[in-house]
Amino acid sequence: MKRIAVLTSGGDAPGMNSCLRAVVRGALAEGWEVLGVRQGYQGLIDGRMDPLDARAVGGIVQKGGTILGTIRSPEFKTMEGRKRALENLNKNKVEALVVIGGNGSQSGAYELHKMGFPVIGAPSTIDNDVPFTDITIGVDTALNTVLNAIDKIKETASSHHRAFLIEVMGRDSGYLAMMSGIAGGAEFIVIPEVETDMEDIVESVEDAYRKGKAHFIAIIAEGAKPGTQAIADYLRGKELGFEVRMTILGHVQRGGSPTAFDRVLATRLGLGAIRELARAEKGKMVGLIRGETVATPLEEVTSTKKVLDLQFYRRAQVLER
Ligand code: ADP
Repeated sequence: MKRIAVLTSGGDAPGMNSCLRAVVRGALAEGWEVLGVRQGYQGLIDGRMDPLDARAVGGIVQKGGTILGTIRSPEFKTMEGRKRALENLNKNKVEALVVIGGNGSQSGAYELHKMGFPVIGAPSTIDNDVPFTDITIGVDTALNTVLNAIDKIKETASSHHRAFLIEVMGRDSGYLAMMSGIAGGAEFIVIPEVETDMEDIVESVEDAYRKGKAHFIAIIAEGAKPGTQAIADYLRGKELGFEVRMTILGHVQRGGSPTAFDRVLATRLGLGAIRELARAEKGKMVGLIRGETVATPLEEVTSTKKVLDLQFYRRAQVLER
């Protein structure tokens, strides 16, 4: 192998840069050259790739976002778009590609693999919804950002005897809501994976009031049904003892300097991707499974849905007392 390329794709996540740095420096240590592709798969289609040396990825281990940029590329979902991407890879004498991204990005990687191009994926997304890895790059940082907000909101909620509905990211995945709710000591957690009855929430608020709690905090995933606004409207129509307020945390959850955990995870997965390429492996994604970096065929990754540990969700309900 002489030359590889690397790209970041899909939703950005803190730690993408730490992973990129590990991929570049790991590859250089193997004696390979590295091209950095701008703006994810769209950059492949447009032929936007430049050499990255060790210095080019200096000073980024602690930076959120991605220095390569990322946009969604509908064009890459078409065979024509992917053919152009392949032509550019071949024209630039690239022999293998590392893709850092979420489920969609791993699907894109699998499509390239099926066209005969060697690809290795590394999972990054704050949703933690990629299978064959216990945790994805970026989740830990996002979780800590959410916790920081919950802790602050709790203080003001307690002072004013308020019920706060805090919406966190997760259109299809309740991981962030569940874990931040548990770690943040929320009274109620609403996630897309579990159907929730409005009256159960009302009961929980009334219960908190009766028990003399100074506040009520509910963590609601973006994609949960009922949604945050609907819950707020419903609760406002009741006599609950607490005034109701809602906060949508939004994109602050995507930013920020990656935590130590995310930096180490991203580094391990980045070096893991290089290790797989050095072993002439391809068409796989490197994940962290029970503490080990394990490569799983993209075919399996893209055909499996990660399921949330609902047993833990239910067990954790004993804490809402
Ligand atoms: P994420 O990787 O965070 O899940 P997306 O779902 O937006 O984000 O996927 C990122 C990019 O991956 C898309 O913009 C598209 O270019 C590519 N992609 C997603 N799904 C496929 C697919 N089935 N086939 C080919 N490319 C895909």
